[in-house]
Amino acid sequence: MNAAAYLRPQSIAEVSECLTSLPEAQLLAGGQSLLAAWRLGLCMPTHFIDLQDVPDLNDIRPDDDALWVGAMCTHAQIAHSPLIVSQFPMLGALARGIADAQIRNVGTIGGALANNDPAACWPAGVLAVNADIVTNRRVISADDFFQSLFSTALQDGEWILGVRFPRMAWARYLKFEQAASRFALVGVAVSRSMKGQVRVAITGLGQGVTRWAAAESALSAQWHVRTLNNLDFDAAAAQTDIHASAMYRAHLVSVLCRRAVAAETGESAAMPARAPVVRAETMPAQARIQGSQLLPASPAHVWRQLLEPAVLQLCIPGCASLTLTQPEHYQAVVKIGLGPIAATFETQVTLFPELTQTSQTPVRCRLVVSGQAGALGEGKATILVQLQAIEDPQTQHVSTRLDWQATPEVTGKLAQLGNRFMDATARSLSQQFFNRFSAALSGDAPARGTSFFLYALTVKVKQWFQRFFER
Ligand SMILES: Cc1cc2nc3c(=O)[nH]c(=O)nc-3n(C[C@H](O)[C@H](O)[C@H](O)COP(=O)(O)OP(=O)(O)OC[C@H]3O[C@@H](n4cnc5c(N)ncnc54)[C@H](O)[C@@H]3O)c2cc1C
Repeated sequence: MNAAAYLRPQSIAEVSECLTSLPEAQLLAGGQSLLAAWRLGLCMPTHFIDLQDVPDLNDIRPDDDALWVGAMCTHAQIAHSPLIVSQFPMLGALARGIADAQIRNVGTIGGALANNDPAACWPAGVLAVNADIVTNRRVISADDFFQSLFSTALQDGEWILGVRFPRMAWARYLKFEQAASRFALVGVAVSRSMKGQVRVAITGLGQGVTRWAAAESALSAQWHVRTLNNLDFDAAAAQTDIHASAMYRAHLVSVLCRRAVAAETGESAAMPARAPVVRAETMPAQARIQGSQLLPASPAHVWRQLLEPAVLQLCIPGCASLTLTQPEHYQAVVKIGLGPIAATFETQVTLFPELTQTSQTPVRCRLVVSGQAGALGEGKATILVQLQAIEDPQTQHVSTRLDWQATPEVTGKLAQLGNRFMDATARSLSQQFFNRFSAALSGDAPARGTSFFLYALTVKVKQWFQRFFER
């Protein structure tokens, strides 16, 4: 975690000035996403620009026939606003369903929209009514604002002042929650304008909020649940991850959309009886991450180093100790930061090398890692590692291409934050491991107890001298 200065501007103009003069600074609203990402080293702002003293960002008020909600309004404020509860009930219900009371009391609508998390509720609610996002520079319609996951139309130096919600004849948001975080596994917002135009916005599919055009035109023509009977949401627009398959998510879209419409029309939301559709998709049981690394040593040497506890201890990020308990079985203590939790894992690592009949150097190896972080929960991963010799035809020097594929999973309390950041965290930790391992292979094996940074510096200086004298 890097150091960052803390600024507390007192006006909208001052915030805009700070953003222009400090390009690496980040706005801080409730810190619910930003501080967790910062702690994980996923962002490194030079400054936090805290918005909480800026006047006029907390207003909820009528704006002609629309509703104005300031960017710093918390989910709880929106959930309990009498104006919203009585006249814009979809927004109140959406806010009441976000996470838990602690997060609702601090998390803001501005932060949620700027973050554009692919499983967040606000992007669906805002897109379903095509609200205007008002920034310090312009007004952006929701149709133009959301670009893809974690990405919006906000430009450098631009920030959200508030949201203008148009009045609808009717709107409803329903979500099927991911049990640990309460983020949307799938969330569907349906709205009907005064002129009968229907919009359907969906969150939780994996690639950011999107609309369901076929349902919109069918429901605009005929406002009945049965209009949806022959419509299936296309699973190709959804993603498979550790929580759900694309097909399951697509099914949830249909179910939630039908329930939302039924809540207004009074019809049954039950799915029509239809012959089961045979689908080609086979669902991978869990999400995978993968990578590739070119290592400056032969496969035999790489393999020897992978079995060397002293090398492993220095290369595994956060590894406080590592002991060989029996051949190819290790026990380690590893400290990993997961959001606001710094977890210490008591870890078991078992290697299952795959040998060929002709060589003692394995071509493939499966590593089964399981770690227990006390009452916080458990982390598990199966990592497949494949080594392939690559010979330089000019120098005959042999290096190794190492391909890896991991299926990580965290459970228990850790899953609340861990699963949501797992992909990025696993990537970052794996990259650190292979960078260190690559450095270790370039030089001598590090001695037990050597500081890795001292060791890496020694290797770099050695390489520099070698290159200098080769010239
Ligand atoms: C465990 C957990 C469960 C959650 N469950 C849900 C859920 O069910 N549904 C849901 O919708 N959300 C959910 N959230 C998200 C949460 O409600 C917050 O809305 C979200 O994390 C943003 O937090 P924040 O407002 O504190 O913004 P911050 O974390 O302070 O900021 C987030 C990002 O927005 C930027 N930013 C902040 N304000 C502005 C602004 N005015 N203009 C431009 N950029 C800005 C920041 O620089 C940062 O990049 C959950 C979060 C957690 C941690």
